[in-house]
Amino acid sequence: MRGASGGPPVRHAFAGHGASRGLALGRARVRLPHALEIGEQHVRASGIEAEVARLQAAIEAARTEMRALREKLQGALSKEAIEFIDLHALLLDDPELVNALEGLIRQERYSAGYALRAQRDRLAAVFERMDDPYLRSRLDDLDHIIGRINAHLHRREPLPRGTAGEVLVCDNVAPSELAQLQAQGVVAIVSAAGSPLSHSAILARSLHLPLVVGAAETLQRVNDGEVVMVDGETGEVVIDPDAADLRRYHQREQQDARERRDLERLRRKPTRTIDGVDVALHANAESREDVARAHALGAAGVGLFRTEFLFLQRTELPDEDEQFQVYRDAVLGMSGRPVTFRTLDLGADKADRTGLALENEDNPALGVRGVRLSLLYDRVFDTQLRAIVRAAAYGPVRVLVPMVSCREEVLLVRRRLRRAVAVVKRRGVAVEMLPLGAMIEVPAAAIGVYGLTDVVDFMSVGTNDLVQYLLAVDRNNDALGDLYSPLHPGVLRLLAHVIGAGEATGTPVAVCGEMAGDSRLAPLLLALGLKEFSLHPSHLLELRRTIRDCRHADLRARAGKLLEARDRGAIERWLQAASAP
Ligand code: PEP
Ligand code: MG
Repeated sequence: MRGASGGPPVRHAFAGHGASRGLALGRARVRLPHALEIGEQHVRASGIEAEVARLQAAIEAARTEMRALREKLQGALSKEAIEFIDLHALLLDDPELVNALEGLIRQERYSAGYALRAQRDRLAAVFERMDDPYLRSRLDDLDHIIGRINAHLHRREPLPRGTAGEVLVCDNVAPSELAQLQAQGVVAIVSAAGSPLSHSAILARSLHLPLVVGAAETLQRVNDGEVVMVDGETGEVVIDPDAADLRRYHQREQQDARERRDLERLRRKPTRTIDGVDVALHANAESREDVARAHALGAAGVGLFRTEFLFLQRTELPDEDEQFQVYRDAVLGMSGRPVTFRTLDLGADKADRTGLALENEDNPALGVRGVRLSLLYDRVFDTQLRAIVRAAAYGPVRVLVPMVSCREEVLLVRRRLRRAVAVVKRRGVAVEMLPLGAMIEVPAAAIGVYGLTDVVDFMSVGTNDLVQYLLAVDRNNDALGDLYSPLHPGVLRLLAHVIGAGEATGTPVAVCGEMAGDSRLAPLLLALGLKEFSLHPSHLLELRRTIRDCRHADLRARAGKLLEARDRGAIERWLQAASAP
């Protein structure tokens, strides 16, 4: 940050929450919230032409930026992503926008920034009146372009390109924009809103893109182009780091590299406790890269393939062939180890641009998401099921259903899956009915789990949602802080109930929420009887190391004590005692 009198940079450290680990050093690129906070500002008559020129220069800079981005990404991104960039470039040339902006400066004597805001608000009102959800969603594109022009208007010094990379400092970041941001050279993201459990955070971890959330102060204080140091693990953000910070940064980099080398030795080792109990580590995957890593690290399979990420970055639904190819490649990527495809879990914070997820639900987390959405759109669901079934001709495949709240939903899906198998078989593909599982993430499904065990082949506990719905704590709301925690006696009892039901009925149970990837919690899950974990590959070796240091029988013997815990403190003390050498 600049000193008060515009003097030399002043170091400043801010605390956010680490949401995707990794260290990054880069120059800040500040993205202001969509509601442009630009007050009414006017220019003198003598300053009008200079203001128009300033606006034109900003628009031209945005155009150059889009052209450079397109060139850089050509071939590296999907056709659809490139089309987005083209669409944004077209908007920059749109006379409706450009002439109107100049008109506002000339006739109303608005400052360029205020003209931008006024015109954005006018167009937004038109967009918002549209009935078609697809057209309405084009407002995002308009905001994107307005944001770019605004950034150039307020840029104090040009950003150097492509050397140290950029740290995006913003109000919030959507899962659908992460891959593109990374391809643009963004090396870390710091956002004012969000939480480590949000889908953006999950995807950032999958992309190995450091992310700090809950960093509102950083957004207020940082300027474009300032150097920032980001620690995606601790959540620390340092603006204008000094020599000591930089030393610390390099030391941490070396330490991380040593740790990675250390863990690499476990690649080919079994995941077995000291007393010889084998534990299956499956991987959560959102992309082809995740599958490749899962395979390389010796994952037992893919326990959760989040298919919705295929739908998030685009405006048109992927057809059966396109989906089939993605699923088939995942199956081939695991060469014989099972891949569990979770059917579309759109809705809530996973809002897509295809217009499938309903808009304007009063309470989207309790609304039409997951299997509810699939059952609403028959054709979309059947298309996905057929694509998954076809992929099963290349290796073992399982189907997992998200947001199940009752037995009837599983029975409906089972019927649909059977029909998809029959259709694919009639086309001459040799496939049989696939194992069907339910995500246990709605409290009623967990409590009433015995109503599901005889209609599913396996279960996977989604603790991310189970915790939010059980504790009535929004997983995306950072303001709720520590209230969101799996270390609640109610959560542990429910987990014990579900795992016990699996054991009693011979139904395999895994945990695939983020809790499974936190190796500090592994003794607790083992104590409750869990034998199957599904987690992002980046945590797999660390978890394997922890499990190899556990004595299973001792932990099981301590389960009673764990379930007697009355509060989080008691659970933490149990964990400390269990982890003590
Ligand atoms: C969960 O809820 O724990 C889960 C794995 O699903 P998602 O995070 O995709 O909602
Ligand atoms: Mg979930």
